[in-house]
Amino acid sequence: MAASLVFRLHDRGPEVVREVLLERGWEEYDRRHRQDEDWNLYWRASLFHKSDYYKLMPWQRLNHHPKTVGITRKDFLTRNLRRMRTTFGAGVYDFSPIAFILPNDYTRFLAEYNRQRMIPGPPIYWICKPVDLSRGRGIFIFEDIKDLVYDSSVIVQRYISNPILISGYKFDLRIYVCVKSFNPLTVYIHQEGLVRFATEKYQLSHLGNLYSHLTNTSINKFSPFYKTEKGKVGQGCKWTMSKFRHFLHCQEVSELLLWQRINNIVTLTLLAIAPSVPHFPNCVELLGFDILIDVKLKPWLLEVNFSPALTLDCQADITVKKRKLHKCLKVNRSDASMTLPQGEKLPLLKPEKRQKKSSGLIPRYHRYLPPVEINKPGAKSGMVSANTTTYSDNKSADLILGPRTKLTGVKKLPLNTASSQTRERGAAVPPPRVGDFIRTFPFNSATLKASQEILDVRTVIQELLKLTAKLSHCSRPNRRKIRLDGVRDSEGDGTFESLFWGPKDPKLISHCLQHL
Ligand code: ADP
Repeated sequence: MAASLVFRLHDRGPEVVREVLLERGWEEYDRRHRQDEDWNLYWRASLFHKSDYYKLMPWQRLNHHPKTVGITRKDFLTRNLRRMRTTFGAGVYDFSPIAFILPNDYTRFLAEYNRQRMIPGPPIYWICKPVDLSRGRGIFIFEDIKDLVYDSSVIVQRYISNPILISGYKFDLRIYVCVKSFNPLTVYIHQEGLVRFATEKYQLSHLGNLYSHLTNTSINKFSPFYKTEKGKVGQGCKWTMSKFRHFLHCQEVSELLLWQRINNIVTLTLLAIAPSVPHFPNCVELLGFDILIDVKLKPWLLEVNFSPALTLDCQADITVKKRKLHKCLKVNRSDASMTLPQGEKLPLLKPEKRQKKSSGLIPRYHRYLPPVEINKPGAKSGMVSANTTTYSDNKSADLILGPRTKLTGVKKLPLNTASSQTRERGAAVPPPRVGDFIRTFPFNSATLKASQEILDVRTVIQELLKLTAKLSHCSRPNRRKIRLDGVRDSEGDGTFESLFWGPKDPKLISHCLQHL
């Protein structure tokens, strides 16, 4: 009998998660009819209790890893990135605007503020944000310290006052990052994302106009210009990442370097907490990274969102958020009777014993979930087609429930399947892509090795720098027009290949490098 998978939503939300899971044939947990542990996925927008992790059964999944608050609260992020900057150098950790946690750092802020005032040049602006609020609440921008007024813990951050604009409007990128595991670190980034626009033209002379300076949808959807046509931006305040890619194509810019820098931001930020996140393999985390790009095409990290908003305000939201969830939770009713990759059966959850009340409402069912083993020997990795050099999706895997292993397609060569890597190096290679999620870490043999057992942060950073230096060398002004297709291999060591997250059709990193 086809099994039902059961989900629990904390506080009845988010609605889109319920919608997607029900569409995929899941059942919602009902405590009147089920035992406490009788569920497969527990989704909550807030933190789980420590004890929830210790009580986890093999068939259960949580949508958060413990301790990710180290990067998702503004003050913790500031502190962690400051520590990384001190340890690994300001040249590496140069992607987040300098910030101070007030009231504690007030004296340091004052010193920096005065120092900046002495430097000749355009004025310097600052942005003040409450540490534990979101959606633009309580934020203001100031130039003069006399305008800094706060009554709770805040961070004051250098305001990036020269953002790249589209038709005069400021925007930032919302990048969806899925951390499959912190130990070993395994990171995927979704191919789609959102571009969030301000709804009034950018003007430094009007610092108080939040519709001009903040890109939060929660603010801009109430703007009087929300529905107005705004040049290339159009109506509303959102684009899909695909539309942004199209926009970039029309510009004379070094796209690959921009994408790689965004990749670096994601990895370097996660490295700040990865060694201290306890290992719970049945968890997954979906984070929203907010990235602002300045006129020199330098991406800046503004913040990392825990439980990024899943409200559907417009068509771009439906395209991006719903699709992303479908990919993330890609398991159908018919997929539910699963076997482990090696063909072993998991112990059954016996309905007759588990059911609290035999109300007759719940059919007899068998539910299996393999432990999440994307990184473990035996998990199948993606395959590469011999003639097209594009990867097939690992169509039967999903990021929450783990791999299922039917790969289809014509004339495929195995690409470093996990099992072959295991024999060769003692470590398994996670699939290069899972649906529309592209693996961005580990991205080569050295980072795979450095992330096993104890995470070797220094080696990982060196590898990131090497890759970025190659891309940057290849994208000097005289070689600015980059074609993203038809690239050839140069860098691969023939045993471990990764896709390059960013461009529409991701190519092998090695191919990107050689073709530049
Ligand atoms: P929240 O969690 O309230 O959304 P954010 O840090 O994301 O707080 O800031 C909200 C918005 O303010 C961002 O989306 C961006 O448009 C703008 N913003 C935040 N920090 C900066 C900064 N340092 N420089 C320029 N704009 C910023």
